[in-house]
Amino acid sequence: MRRTTMLSALALVLCSVARSVDAQSGGTSSASPAPDATTSRLMQRLHALAADSMEGRRAGTPGAARARRWLIAELRAIGVEPMGTSYEHPFVIRTRNASPDTNGVNVVARIKGTAGSGPALVLSAHYDHLGIRNGEVFNGADDDASGCVTLLMIAERLMRERPTHDVILTFFDAEESGLQGARAFVANPPLPLSTIGMNLNLDMVSRQDAGALWVAGTSHTPMLKSVAESAANGARVTIRFGHDTKDLKPGDDWTNSSDHGAFHARGIPFLYLGVEDHPDYHKAGDEAHKVDPTFFRGTMEYAYALLRRVDAALPDIARARRTP
Ligand SMILES: [Zn+2]
Repeated sequence: MRRTTMLSALALVLCSVARSVDAQSGGTSSASPAPDATTSRLMQRLHALAADSMEGRRAGTPGAARARRWLIAELRAIGVEPMGTSYEHPFVIRTRNASPDTNGVNVVARIKGTAGSGPALVLSAHYDHLGIRNGEVFNGADDDASGCVTLLMIAERLMRERPTHDVILTFFDAEESGLQGARAFVANPPLPLSTIGMNLNLDMVSRQDAGALWVAGTSHTPMLKSVAESAANGARVTIRFGHDTKDLKPGDDWTNSSDHGAFHARGIPFLYLGVEDHPDYHKAGDEAHKVDPTFFRGTMEYAYALLRRVDAALPDIARARRTP
């Protein structure tokens, strides 16, 4: 998700109208050159997490549990340690109607920084999506398997090129039902909130329909603008800034539209990376084969460059915290 609940509901209604069109679209760019090993790995992981076997990864379902097992197996293979005694951090998902509350589970890991002290960076994405509706699997390749896969790729690099500050890798659950995994994280954090210098959140980072990757959050923490701009030098994708001011029409201010909203509510600076809505947003057509590998690789590279810049500036960023 990345929109208001009302707009999401509207999208789901529209979705049923557009479904027959979706089923006929698709296909890959067969003229592209053969991808390098890193891009292949990126796409391989995207196809794995956005596969039908994950059943749309709806929070509280066996499909979400399967996705979680896959994520943890990847983290173990990369050599990233759990945050605390387990990768799994359960919480209760509150439902709005009469159906009973269910359990959600955030997956949290930590890569220790070389400094050994100081603020930590929470790098996040959400692994849940919309599940199966009317017999169709909503695979959520862009939303947000793309963010989760980017986190894994970044984790692999950070194990070779250690960050200065601790990086807390967080794969949130139940984002689609109101940022519940992120809200549970800040309500019962596995490290003191005062030590979280910033949240860098990735949600929908693989589709190039609108041709650009947006960086939101700099209007709330102006010093982050130069940090994010410096990381954009040499970027392989177009980087735009905005979607974070109140003067925008409803739905265009993304300040509270994904998990970074839970950190913002606690006064913690954030940057959010994401693309504009596309024709498959919250539809069964959000499939891995519609992702352009070159664009996705470009956003992954930007996210990594940004993380390194943020890591270097983290003590200054942490001092920019607001009192909520
Ligand atoms: Zn999302």
